[in-house]
Amino acid sequence: MRTPTGTPEITLVGAGLAGSLLAIFLARRGYRVTLLERRLDPRKTGASAGRSINLALANRGIAALEEVGVMESVRSELIPMAGRMLHDEEGRLRLIPYGNKPHEVIYSVSRAGLNTLLLDAAESTGRVSIRFGATVSGVDFAGRRVRFLSGNDSQPQTTPYEVLIGTDGSASAVRAAILERTGGRLAEEPLGHGYKELSIPAADGGRFRMERGALHIWPRGEYMLIALPNVDGSFTATLFLPNEGDESFQALTTTEAVHALFERRFADAIPLMPSLGEDFFENPTGHLETIRCEPWSFEDQALVLGDAAHAIVPFHGQGMNAAFEDCSAFDQGLGNPDRPWDEIFTQFEERRRPNTDAIADMALENYVEMRSTVREPKFQLKKDLSFRLEERHPGRFIPRYSMVMFHTIPYAEAKRRGAIQEEILEELTSRAASLDEVDLARADRLIAERLS
Ligand SMILES: Cc1cc2nc3c(=O)[nH]c(=O)nc-3n(C[C@H](O)[C@H](O)[C@H](O)COP(=O)(O)OP(=O)(O)OC[C@H]3O[C@@H](n4cnc5c(N)ncnc54)[C@H](O)[C@@H]3O)c2cc1C
Repeated sequence: MRTPTGTPEITLVGAGLAGSLLAIFLARRGYRVTLLERRLDPRKTGASAGRSINLALANRGIAALEEVGVMESVRSELIPMAGRMLHDEEGRLRLIPYGNKPHEVIYSVSRAGLNTLLLDAAESTGRVSIRFGATVSGVDFAGRRVRFLSGNDSQPQTTPYEVLIGTDGSASAVRAAILERTGGRLAEEPLGHGYKELSIPAADGGRFRMERGALHIWPRGEYMLIALPNVDGSFTATLFLPNEGDESFQALTTTEAVHALFERRFADAIPLMPSLGEDFFENPTGHLETIRCEPWSFEDQALVLGDAAHAIVPFHGQGMNAAFEDCSAFDQGLGNPDRPWDEIFTQFEERRRPNTDAIADMALENYVEMRSTVREPKFQLKKDLSFRLEERHPGRFIPRYSMVMFHTIPYAEAKRRGAIQEEILEELTSRAASLDEVDLARADRLIAERLS
């Protein structure tokens, strides 16, 4: 059986966020890395690095970027967001802080900017070579070769690999090959809602047209609009809407229909979006789903990680963060380089799967919170109470959102503790209309009994 010690070179498929970061981790361990990437070099073409223009970066992602020493360069690209700025239907604003401490913020970052920085950092190791315009179409496991189409060629080429890692995103070709070879299982769970990106340009002089230090949300029950700031003073807004039905992407077939929906439900956003109609019909409608698959690897040959192994809906802002955490966890698994690859792969999957399943569930739950629950007075009361309980029981009671975004507590543990905490919050607020009416002595007892 092959081991990391006997493997000087690793082939990665996909130079997106996970692939470029993993290449840096592997190069630091001394491997030569070849990356095959379908896109042309985004640094030369200026092409968008893929879906969603900006993303929320949080603690888990930051921890992985720090491990490979690139966080300092990333910092200048970040805009801190301290909370959710809710826009109600009358245009009134209310900020709900994400965390309880000044450093508990998340960061808006450009996907293309971050990807470029990671590609540069990978190449600067001198051990990583990236072949752009190479679309992997299959894997010949018997011959240990990967098939790919280069440029406009219609005939696939092949290249040998020693170990192959698929970081090729939610429609992964490497995953398809592993599942076909192993007779594995693929579960695709469409959300039934899609998304559309829309732009809010900067005002004169590059000024922000709304509060820059927040993630803006227009929660409307069944659907929502959100907006994240960009360093140039603009915001990227994303409309999340059912695919079908009266108020849906399917129903919005004319500019008039789009404007009518916005006038009815997002009136205060209209003056911020001078190109709403054009954006809506020029930009694609994105598809949202949760993907779980099993197994993630084949023998000592191939593994998938990041979205290729576990794509999730974007409502907890954790897909990239989880993918970065995967890279760090995989790197830790290489600590003993004399263990065979198949053992390393299997152990990686055993350790990560409960956590990636947990964040997939929490991301789905968060859609309901963002588009609906966040508007309810009870939500605010529970949020205030959870901050108060965190102050009374530091390290023991940590709001679930904080465990996911501001800590590196394993996702499965955050989900488990979060469920117990939610029961406690529910019991304490069932008859209370304000924080003053909550029985804190009872809260202390419940926490002592139920949270170790
Ligand atoms: C609307 C939206 C908003 C999001 N917001 C957030 C957020 O705020 N925070 C967060 O943490 N996450 C967010 N995510 C999730 C995040 O985008 C993904 O989890 C992340 O991009 C996963 O990285 P990856 O490298 O695994 O996959 P990708 O980023 O998809 O990279 C895959 C790469 O592989 C390449 N590739 C694909 N197929 C092939 C092939 N056959 N051959 C060669 N190359 C190939 C692609 O070109 C791409 O470069 C969001 C997602 C969406 C859709």
